[in-house]
Amino acid sequence: MQCGASYGLDEVLSAPGVPHCRCGGIIKPDVVLYEEPLDETIWRGAQEAVAEADVMLVGGTSLSVYPAAGLIQLFSGEPLVLINKSATPYDSRANLLICGSIGQVLSKVVERLNG
Ligand SMILES: [Zn+2]
Repeated sequence: MQCGASYGLDEVLSAPGVPHCRCGGIIKPDVVLYEEPLDETIWRGAQEAVAEADVMLVGGTSLSVYPAAGLIQLFSGEPLVLINKSATPYDSRANLLICGSIGQVLSKVVERLNG
């Protein structure tokens, strides 16, 4: 995305081959991919939010990909809740550690809350 134009899933899926924008750029999801730089303003905002948070729930990550994994080091509140299928370097710091898929765990939480 060079021009910032946004496309719906239907338009992307119906494109022959690699979907291209009107401006000639390649259309990609609006997420940060591996080895892409993080937006400085968003990154600073995330750091501030974590530093001020009372509760932190982290899920679906091995907490081994930096710099995002380093956010947890800025958290000084309690509780820290970790949900992941495998061990993370921060398991010993967690107040609540749930071993499982984030999708399955949160689905059950929602079921409980609704039922
Ligand atoms: Zn474009």
